[in-house]
Amino acid sequence: MNKYKIYNKVKQDFMLKRVRAQEECENFIENLRQNPQFNKIYTEYTKKELEYLKTKYEDENIALKYEAEDLKNQIEKYLSTINVDKSRLYPHYECPICNDTGVVGGKICKCFLKELNTALTKDYNNSATFNSFSNCNPKIMNENDKKTLDLLKTWCEKYPNTTKININIIGGSGSGKTFLLECVANEMINRNFSVCYKTAFELNELARQYHFGKSYDFADCLDADILLIDDLGTEPVLKNITKEYLYNLINTRQVNFRPTFISTNLSLENILSRYDERIFSRLGNKNLSINIKLDSKDKRLL
Ligand SMILES: [Zn+2]
Repeated sequence: MNKYKIYNKVKQDFMLKRVRAQEECENFIENLRQNPQFNKIYTEYTKKELEYLKTKYEDENIALKYEAEDLKNQIEKYLSTINVDKSRLYPHYECPICNDTGVVGGKICKCFLKELNTALTKDYNNSATFNSFSNCNPKIMNENDKKTLDLLKTWCEKYPNTTKININIIGGSGSGKTFLLECVANEMINRNFSVCYKTAFELNELARQYHFGKSYDFADCLDADILLIDDLGTEPVLKNITKEYLYNLINTRQVNFRPTFISTNLSLENILSRYDERIFSRLGNKNLSINIKLDSKDKRLL
């Protein structure tokens, strides 16, 4: 699903949420109206409210407003005698700041952003559950691993106040590259950023589909707040696609100051020979990149 569709879906969900809250409230009041005494005051109250909304004359308007308020007080008092909470007269919205409209003072409410980010992240990753920093097993960590973990944790805490936006995690199979990428993904999802996690193989496939106009999901990788590419170098190199789209992706994200994490078996020199000079220079840019080398010992065997 593209970003626009997801945005619309979240907007629709908000509208439904709002309508549901209003319906629930209306049904509750309808039931209360079975009670003749409540029904009598409530009918009077709604009549007054309507008159108040219709009138154009200010003095009449104020008088009607007071009358309506008086009736409302009577209703609330009556409700307390039959042990009904007066708040039940109004819809119960999930977000008290925007009343589930998703907008507050012309700006998008935080609750909407949170929902949107969750939806985007789910779509990027098919609701994958990731490892987290708290799952790390200290028994299999050496000094170098601990330093790496601290560095990544600190990066996650500091973002967006970070200058390094290309993080290359280099290590052999079983060195814990994927684990670390997942920890970062998990941490950033919890901080409400949109996270796109792809294996290099999946990314290559998205680029191929995009190239032939079959799907535009590749564009999501450009837009996500955080992109993580796992196991760069294991994908086949497709002519006119792999190098071109990878460069475009990394370069566009770098220009827009969007972080990209890469895990790979390849040394930077191997990246140069497998891809090209432009990709190498983007990933190796000293001002913007951190290179993390993991020990090659296979931790899965420990
Ligand atoms: Zn809200």
